[in-house]
Amino acid sequence: MSAGTERLAELLRESGRTVALTGAGISVPSGIPDFRSPGTGLWENVDPMEVAHLDVFLNDPGRFWSYYRPRFGMLSDKEPNPAHRALAQLEEQGVLEAVITQNIDTLHRKAGSRNVVEVHGTIETGSCWTCKTSYPLAEIEPLFDPDGIARCTCGGPVKPDVVLFGELLPEAAMLDAHALCERADLLLCVGTSLEVYPVAGLPSVTRAAGGAVAIVTKGPTPYDGEAEVRLDGDVVEELEALLRVL
Ligand code: ZN
Repeated sequence: MSAGTERLAELLRESGRTVALTGAGISVPSGIPDFRSPGTGLWENVDPMEVAHLDVFLNDPGRFWSYYRPRFGMLSDKEPNPAHRALAQLEEQGVLEAVITQNIDTLHRKAGSRNVVEVHGTIETGSCWTCKTSYPLAEIEPLFDPDGIARCTCGGPVKPDVVLFGELLPEAAMLDAHALCERADLLLCVGTSLEVYPVAGLPSVTRAAGGAVAIVTKGPTPYDGEAEVRLDGDVVEELEALLRVL
């Protein structure tokens, strides 16, 4: 039992409102590579910032989907891991109010978390760029035309409801995330390097409103100096250890 885990448990017990903020690191144990780590899986030979870009979707949807279609297939087969389940259990126990996530993989909800704010969108649905018709994930695959472009019945291209490079984050989700962080006594950051704005600004929102920040992630973050607790181990091991002492 590390002193850090003990301290985090204490913070959770004292906190009236705790919110989790998660990033790619929590889904790595589910077999989803963090695309910002070089040399991992599907991302090895592609620069996602170049292909998963709104301009590519609009100007060359075939190229966009040639990258995104296998990614969709890969993501939809994945299952939540014990770190996702730990957060769902904390919500169930009334310890955690909500999860704000940068992940699009739906694994928090698959794990049983109910109050989830997906600030980068989700693979769960796609929408026609032209007429805005929404399609659940399972109904997108049959929409592909011979050029490999998912097309709505109106002929417009269907875009996954995830935030692409070149797009703004969904305003409503960001407002929810901001409000949750402002009210939080404790913001528990898990598996995120806190480097991608505007999400990277959320710990400052909690701190400015008088709350504390705890960080459970491998590798450095810009908030390490301000964090009340900083755990650097594997996210699954750290959260399982936390559940045991709570
Ligand atoms: Zn349409």
